[in-house]
This record gives sequence, C-alpha cells and structure tokens, in this order.
Amino acid sequence: MKTVLDSTALKEQLDKWRYQGDRIGFVPTMGNLHAGHISLIDLARQQCDKVVCSVFVNPTQFGPTEDFNTYPRTLEDDSEKLAAANCDLLFAPNGATMYPEGLTSTVSIIAPDLTNMLCGASRPHFFNGITRVVSKLFHMVMPDKAYFGQKDYQQLLIIKTMTEALSFPIEIIGGPIIREPDGLAMSSRNQYLANDQRNTALLLFNALKQAESDLRCGALTLASSQIQEYRLALFKKLEASGFIPDYFEIKNRKDLSIAKEGVDKALLILIAADLNGTRLIDNRMIDL
Ligand code: AMP
Repeated sequence: MKTVLDSTALKEQLDKWRYQGDRIGFVPTMGNLHAGHISLIDLARQQCDKVVCSVFVNPTQFGPTEDFNTYPRTLEDDSEKLAAANCDLLFAPNGATMYPEGLTSTVSIIAPDLTNMLCGASRPHFFNGITRVVSKLFHMVMPDKAYFGQKDYQQLLIIKTMTEALSFPIEIIGGPIIREPDGLAMSSRNQYLANDQRNTALLLFNALKQAESDLRCGALTLASSQIQEYRLALFKKLEASGFIPDYFEIKNRKDLSIAKEGVDKALLILIAADLNGTRLIDNRMIDL
C-alpha cells in the first residue's frame, strides 16, 4: 500500500490509475480504524479496481467543547490495518493541505429537512464540517464510488443529498453497521468508555431492539403522543444509568421524515446519548 500526504502526490497516483481505466473506490475516515471502517474497505475492494482510504481528523466537524484535541490519532496502526485489508492508497493529509484557505470561511449545503434535526440539532456545526471536508476530498480523489457507514445514517443521507446537489459524478454506497459480539456498535469513541461504562453503553442497542419488538407486537405505535410517552420513559431509564439522552426517534428510512402510522413501513429507529462525556449514537432498520 502506498501512502501520500499531499494532493499533488495523490493526483499523480490517481491519474495513473485512471489512465489504465481503473475504477476507484474511496472510504473517507477520521482514522483509529476498527472493523466497521474495514468493512467499508472490503466493500470497495469487491466493487472497484483500486481502493483509496483517507485518514483526517477534521477540525470543522467538532464544536469548541468537543473532543478534537483528544480524538485518537493512530496513523501507524491504521496504516497496518489498511495494508492488511488490501487497500491500495492511504491519503493522510494535514490541516494545511485540507484547509489552505483557513478555517474562518464556511461553505455549506443547506438541506433544512435533513441537517437541522437529530445530530444536527445538538451539534449545529457538525454537518457543515462534514459536507465541507467530504466535498473537498471528493474533488481531490474524484472516485467512482464512495463508501459510508449506515451507523451514521443521517450523515449518509446528507452526503447523498450533497453529491446530487453539487453534481459529483460519484455513486454513494452505504455499508451495514458493524457491531461488537455483544451488539455495541463499533466506534472510535468506545475506547473513551471505562469497563463499567462499556456495559452501560449497551443499553442503547438494547433500547433499539426493545423498541423494535414493541413496534412489532403493537405495544408501541407510531402515534406521536405514544412515542413521546415511550421516549420519556426510556430517557428516565437511561438517565438512571448515567446517560444524558439526546434523541430517540422513529423515522421514515428514505428521507428521515417522521414515520406515519399505517403509511410508512421502511423505518429507522435512531438513538443518541452522552455517557460520561462520550457521545454514542446507534440506529436500527425495521420493515413493518
Ligand atoms: P469516522 O472515522 O468515525 O468518521 O467513520 C468513517 C466511516 O466509517 C463513516 O462512513 C462511518 O459511518 C463508518 N463507520 C464508523 N463506525 C462504523 C460501524 N460500526 N459500522 C459501519 N461503518 C462504520
């Protein structure tokens, strides 16, 4: 596997591959790679001739009080994992390569129905930072296909919207959530959790499974008053275990609009909560 640090070296390599007619698959990440990231590399490997992965901890998607400075940076280890997964090229730019214009200006995609709710409501800077960095990476790599995890489902839909809005000739592919054996969704932030918190974190996955079974047996319906009551009870339970809950929502999976009783069948249950300063998110697809 080759590693490049700047956009000139990146372009030189990509031009050669494109000249050969290779189809390029791209997996953008913030590094500290785990099996969730590698599953996207595997998917790209199956569908493309060359696989490019970027590792860049993107400052513009972190708020002023968030974990940009402490976010785990493990480039050497990431590089070994990518090589073992047969990735062809690692792009590991620094801040000046990604943001030569500095961080004060902004470029944004405004899709209020998608960007202002869920993670966008509690992290107002977040999706602006994501779309800004991903659009830059798309220009630099210009892949045929780009891969994103369904773990960050809202992000995946926003990237699809941005790709269409800016007419990037790139196919966006979503990969399934990869979980630990006990069900906890893999995340680079899981390592912030102490042992006992690691077990507590599992309550989020359990809440999604419980909500699915309650929906299936009719103990929970999509009526908004019932969801509100259900959410309040769930939040109380989560708070008692040390969480600060952010959201619990049942949405139409296609566009993340509120799921309507008797109408919407392809649903997504989404949950987010903070556990001792660590933000955890998870979701579960259900077809009623
Ligand atoms: P990150 O490094 O956290 O920005 O994630 C990079 C990509 O990996 C994003 O598209 C994430 O959605 C995806 N990803 C992160 N965790 C998982 C997981 N547990 N399963 C599948 N994809 C994941």
